[in-house]
Amino acid sequence: MPPRIKMPERAPDIRNKDFKQVNTGYTAEESVAEAKRCLQCPNSSCVKGCPVEINIPGFIKKLAEGNAPAAIEILKEKNNLPAVCGRVCPQETQCEKHCILAKKGESIAIGNLERYAADFKLQSLPHCSGEAAKAEKNSQFSTLNSKLPLKVAVVGSGPAGLACAGDLAKLGYDVTVFESLHDTGGVLRYGIPEFRLPKKVLDSEIDYLKNLGVRFVLNTLIGRTKTVKRLFDEGYKAVFVGVGAGLPIFLGVEGENLNHVYSANEFLVRVNLMRAYEFPKYDTPVYKGKNVVVVGGGNTAMDSARTALRLGAQSVKLVYRRSENEMPARLEERIHAKEEGVEFITLTNPVKFIAGQNRCVAGAECVKMELGEPDASGRRRPKKIENSNFIIESDMVVLALGLNPNPVLASLTDGLNTDKDGYIEIDENFMTSLNGVFAGGDIAGGDTVIQAMGMGKKSAKNIHEYLQRFL
Ligand SMILES: Cc1cc2nc3c(=O)[nH]c(=O)nc-3n(C[C@H](O)[C@H](O)[C@H](O)COP(=O)(O)OP(=O)(O)OC[C@H]3O[C@@H](n4cnc5c(N)ncnc54)[C@H](O)[C@@H]3O)c2cc1C
Ligand code: SF4
Repeated sequence: MPPRIKMPERAPDIRNKDFKQVNTGYTAEESVAEAKRCLQCPNSSCVKGCPVEINIPGFIKKLAEGNAPAAIEILKEKNNLPAVCGRVCPQETQCEKHCILAKKGESIAIGNLERYAADFKLQSLPHCSGEAAKAEKNSQFSTLNSKLPLKVAVVGSGPAGLACAGDLAKLGYDVTVFESLHDTGGVLRYGIPEFRLPKKVLDSEIDYLKNLGVRFVLNTLIGRTKTVKRLFDEGYKAVFVGVGAGLPIFLGVEGENLNHVYSANEFLVRVNLMRAYEFPKYDTPVYKGKNVVVVGGGNTAMDSARTALRLGAQSVKLVYRRSENEMPARLEERIHAKEEGVEFITLTNPVKFIAGQNRCVAGAECVKMELGEPDASGRRRPKKIENSNFIIESDMVVLALGLNPNPVLASLTDGLNTDKDGYIEIDENFMTSLNGVFAGGDIAGGDTVIQAMGMGKKSAKNIHEYLQRFL
């Protein structure tokens, strides 16, 4: 078996100075060669590892034949956002983990091939195939025995909302997505940086949904600008809630409110959404730290550390309380971060942030940690080593400790039940405690893009069944 074809990428010391894409994508020859490695197993276990159950052997077979247009048609049957998923899915713990070749060493590069096929389509049809989208809608619409399109409201334009909206539009429903921010995409736009997911790729995927007939209403906070009840009063027959997990977690230690201590959410939103790196051309400033400490070990921490480097930091130290083996970030992001110059300081936790002049942060006092017994997450619990305190000098700190569910909509909607952690409760049909209101994505317990999409798609299917009573 020939070795897996490596994804071409720009040199670390060049790419860590700009926001251009790190991975440059397979060439046509590379995509065919990698696709030909696939054994086309009859009992393809990789499909079981994909939350949206893409026909993986099917699309790879088309690529092996050099037929990228046919490959993308197969991908689009199950995935409205293949160019996004090919870039950001943690494939090594999903589809690729189940590939039979993974056991022998190197799985098929399913994500890289998915990205190749999706990009091929985007490049050949700049607006993501308006005609193809309309044709797809018309073919599916004819299967719906209704001449009266029903209105469905989708709250939140992250991957859960986009997946749900796309599937409902394909079924012929009149879908409107309400988004509180001034732009679409949720974390795909405001969290994940340009160098991993270019905005124009996301724009093209969203154009595809617009061509399916999905309407987007921005700057509208459901719960406050208008309530869920009002949506029903306006004639929407079902509502999907995909409002994500946007509430940053803090350490609760002294000095967290000093100047230049950011939550990762604020830092990344300023840079990605508000384009703070182009201040004053754009209104929003961001402090550009020289010696930056990022606390955390997930994708958000890697994105924050790599963004700080690109803003010109001389040193970026990633402080994590467990060892690298327990880090939840995608393997590729960890490798890229280290190649680009991020220093990993593991088994270490801040206990205090030290104030310098003008209440600006001047350092992080940390303790060393050791790993004890596994906790509820199955990862070994970190324990503080007494008298191990030391100081890391730093003029900027980014806290990337995870996100809690966005509480706004649930707190303003009577009768919408949440669990003790604030996640919206759903039944096996993805319906909440309110009749006709469904939920999915991070607000209902998901924590990756493709999980959010999978929940959005399953909700769409259940909404379709629920709406039969109105037809
Ligand atoms: C920095 C970062 C990097 C990540 N990297 C990866 C990765 O590489 N791979 C991966 O698989 N996952 C990654 N994740 C996780 C992934 O992005 C999320 O699991 C996913 O985006 C969840 O999708 P969602 O649709 O549920 O919510 P979100 O993407 O959070 O979208 C929710 C949307 O709802 C809007 N909204 C909220 N409240 C309201 C309201 N009341 N009315 C109207 N709109 C509202 C929000 O503004 C937002 O646009 C990352 C997360 C972060 C923060
Ligand atoms: S969508 Fe994600 S999990 Fe599914 S096949 Fe593609 S890369 Fe794998």
